[in-house]
Amino acid sequence: MFIIEATYDIDELLRYNFHIHTTFSGCAKPDMILKDIVAEAERCGLEIIALTDHSNLGDNLRVVSENTPLLREQLAAVETDVKVLIGSEISAYGVGKYSETKEFCETLDYRLYSQNHYHLSFWEQPEDKSPRGYAVHMLAVLEELFKSGRADCVAHPFSGGYIRTLSEEEKLKVPDCITDNELGDILEKGERAGCAWEINAGEFCFLSKFSKRYWDIGREVGVHFNFGTDGHTLKNVDTRGFAGIIKDIIK
Ligand SMILES: [Zn+2]
Ligand SMILES: [Zn+2]
Repeated sequence: MFIIEATYDIDELLRYNFHIHTTFSGCAKPDMILKDIVAEAERCGLEIIALTDHSNLGDNLRVVSENTPLLREQLAAVETDVKVLIGSEISAYGVGKYSETKEFCETLDYRLYSQNHYHLSFWEQPEDKSPRGYAVHMLAVLEELFKSGRADCVAHPFSGGYIRTLSEEEKLKVPDCITDNELGDILEKGERAGCAWEINAGEFCFLSKFSKRYWDIGREVGVHFNFGTDGHTLKNVDTRGFAGIIKDIIK
């Protein structure tokens, strides 16, 4: 389901931050407490934020279904004009494989799906472990995800940054292995499934060559883009610092 109207105005996209982790994600800094995140969002003039803690499998992991009611309780105690969505960064860890049931996902305000956390032990790996092999695997995971109708947005799409078996140089090649036709096709399938595509601040700037293609084809197809900083510390709640570099990449 789309949260905002489709827009290609960067300043408008940056009024929202759809990817923020709280201390319920093991990787977030201790300052990521709901009330402080909301205060920082308000200070930065953000209109909507989404809290997207990781949903993973395995031992010693925090459980999103247990944390969600706690975040809702914390939110109820905060007075703010910022619209706060309690969501999750859910793992689509293989073709048709998800870390949460569809029933639970439907209780969330925002369902952001990761399709490329290949560094995690439970993640399905493709048989073909070349950059192209990983790209094809990501496309297959997304295709199935869109058929399931589960997702509101795809997190850091096509980034190869989490693939442990590839060299730094090969990781960079992963998104470039996707042809324009494949990209247009999958972007359109996401749009038809009511799923937005993330402009992940870090990855979008890092993969600037691919990002330009992603933006241009996405715009041509008419997709919804959602911006997110993937904030793990309070100073990453603010989106405004990314305006210049993003405008530079897409021009
Ligand atoms: Zn992620
Ligand atoms: Zn994240």
